[in-house]
Amino acid sequence: MNQDIQAYDNVLQLIGETPLIKLSEKVAPYSGNFYAKVEAFNPGHSSKDRIALHIIEEAERKGILKPGDTIIETTSGNTGFSIAMVSRIKGYDCILAVSSKSSADKIDMLKSMGAKVYVCPAHVSADDERSYYQVAKRLHEEIKDSIYINQYFNELNIDAHYNSTGPEIWKQTAGKITHLVACSGTGGTISGTARFLKEQNPDVQILGVDAYGSVLKKYHETQEFDKNEIYPYRIEGLGKNLIPTATDFEAIDSFTKVKDEDAAHMARFISQHEGLFVGYTSGAAMQATKQLAAQGVFDKDAVVVVIFPDHGSRYMSKIYNDKWMEEQGFFDSVSTATQQHIEY
Ligand code: PMP
Repeated sequence: MNQDIQAYDNVLQLIGETPLIKLSEKVAPYSGNFYAKVEAFNPGHSSKDRIALHIIEEAERKGILKPGDTIIETTSGNTGFSIAMVSRIKGYDCILAVSSKSSADKIDMLKSMGAKVYVCPAHVSADDERSYYQVAKRLHEEIKDSIYINQYFNELNIDAHYNSTGPEIWKQTAGKITHLVACSGTGGTISGTARFLKEQNPDVQILGVDAYGSVLKKYHETQEFDKNEIYPYRIEGLGKNLIPTATDFEAIDSFTKVKDEDAAHMARFISQHEGLFVGYTSGAAMQATKQLAAQGVFDKDAVVVVIFPDHGSRYMSKIYNDKWMEEQGFFDSVSTATQQHIEY
């Protein structure tokens, strides 16, 4: 045998270079050309692999991290999974403070990657000592030789996407992209990708997706933090009750808000019709695309890239569970006879 063995050294080498997949007429029956950037193809099944690797390797380069140190983060689940995965391979301990809104499957997945998980109440303000921000901050102070990733306030979160997601999309669309539709949570994905794309072509429109119950859209439009915009909602990872510095509001042209119910049905619709098992915010991004198309934002030559941030397997007890959908009232507009076997 003189053939070379074709193998990766470890899963970290598989982060990034996710595919762009053309969306079918069924899912995107609008004027224009629609493509999904499918981040579930990352080894940790979400876009967060990119920031976990980038931020940890930057800390290593600066000599802040050494083997055996502890990495701490606040997370809705995906960032935690990615940090836990990178920590396993690089030999760090990983502590995660997560919101009680995160699905049970997500929390169990973090534990399966060897992370220590603190579940904190979702509906308290960010400055409350029980919030996951304050818990993470306290742990970072208490544990010596620890670093706090702090994704909402870490400029490296933006850089990770400026260095990878942006150039990938530019290359994959041969520079023809006209619109980017991306969810905003920390804002890292949309901001980093937008900065790169706008540098190549300032006319590329950057369309953010926000949730009802989040302050981002209003803040973008008025520069005011309006507490009245904040109320509980179900989509995980999208929108915020504070203004993250990892969001470059100037790089974003507009925000579209989507309803929990619409995003959930859209995610299920995508899974059934594209053979792509997507997460809740992928449904949100596609729902926003639908609303924008209805407003006439895209002409027939538009090249629209919609970022699908994560994989559907993380939502088995939520949007892919009929009982959960029913409990949320998400089938109320559908006749009872078809509730159990709803066809998309
Ligand atoms: N979708 C999901 C499922 C997420 O976990 C996140 C991150 N909070 C986002 C979208 C938004 O990405 P970003 O934080 O880069 O704005």
